[in-house]
Order: sequence, then structure tokens, then C-alpha cells
Amino acid sequence: MDIKKIYMDADALLHGHFKLSSGNHSEYYLQSAKVLEDPKTAALLADELAKQIREYGVSVDTVCSPAIGGLIAGFALASALDCRYIFTERVDGKMTLRRGFEVKPGEKVLICEDIITTGGSALEAAAEIERLGGEVVGFAALANRGFCKRVGGSGEPKPNCKLPSEKPLFALADFEFEMYSPDECPLCKEGSEAVKPGSRGN
Ligand code: ZN
Repeated sequence: MDIKKIYMDADALLHGHFKLSSGNHSEYYLQSAKVLEDPKTAALLADELAKQIREYGVSVDTVCSPAIGGLIAGFALASALDCRYIFTERVDGKMTLRRGFEVKPGEKVLICEDIITTGGSALEAAAEIERLGGEVVGFAALANRGFCKRVGGSGEPKPNCKLPSEKPLFALADFEFEMYSPDECPLCKEGSEAVKPGSRGN
């Protein structure tokens, strides 16, 4: 499965000057929502990811996604794994389980994002699940930005990867491109302004 081609065909690999949710800047942005606007593609990607998770042998009771980015990927993955699906969302900046969702003690929860960059939001969702007594068995995403190490991926995790190294990260591909802190961003130095993806028609 050529994930890069799927993203390119869906115009989901954007080129410009972007401000990521981590606050860092990048010349490229993966707009997974564009890929996932086709439910059949979403199901296809989720099936492939579910296959990888099953082959690895991790048992999952529930998939949990941090809203908003991970919602569709997580829902599709839960459907492919035939398990329960819940999501966390930010309330006053804090990742929280709302809407009557509960986690049973020892419930095996897989955290699913659309893209894992440094894994910050995924880790916050994981912390909330663990606080409620669940067991986080791993992380999953359609694509990995290459800062964290995925199962089957090459190299070592970079220092800015926030995910715990002892838990598996499942992803369909590595998409590696540079990310800059705003004061070191070459695009800012050239005088352009970083935009939040989704805010100006992208
Ligand atoms: Zn910049």
C-alpha cells in the first residue's frame, strides 16, 4: 500500500509554511482529513493498520483518539479491530474523557491519531486513560512523521519524540520532513508567515 501516493492523490500533502499544533513550523503538512473524506479509503487504511496490530499480537479492548485530528482514523481502526471506540477532547486545554465515556480498570486501550509527530496529544490522551485505570497497550497512526520509531520502521526515535519507547507505535508509513522551532524557522527568516493548516482554505 503506497500511503504517500494516497496522500498525494487526495491533495493531502500540502506545501507552504505551516504552524503545527506543537507550535513548531514546517514546510509541509499532512492534511489527513482530505484522505479520510472518502470513507472507503479510511476503511482500507484502517484494515491495513489493524492487520499490523493483530500480527504484532497486541490485544485491544478499546481504541481511543485525541480529538479532533484522530477522530476518523480512530473510529475506522476500532471498526477494523471490531472493538469499542472512545475519544478524549480538550477542556480548558486539558485532554479529558467526556460524554459519559468510561474506562474499566485494566481495560486495554490503544491510542490512535491520524499522524504522530512528536506524539504530544497522544501522550496526553494516554495519561488520561491511565489516570482512569485503563491500560495503554500502544499507539497507532496512519502515518508517522519520523520523530518516533514505529514497529517495523528504521532508525532510532529522535529526542523530541514524547511517546514511551516501551510501548509499540503502529503506523502505515514514515513521512519524514523537517520541523523548526519558530525562532529557527528558515521560512520565517525569508519573511513569510506561518499559517495554521485548515485556516486559509487548506
Ligand atoms: Zn516559520
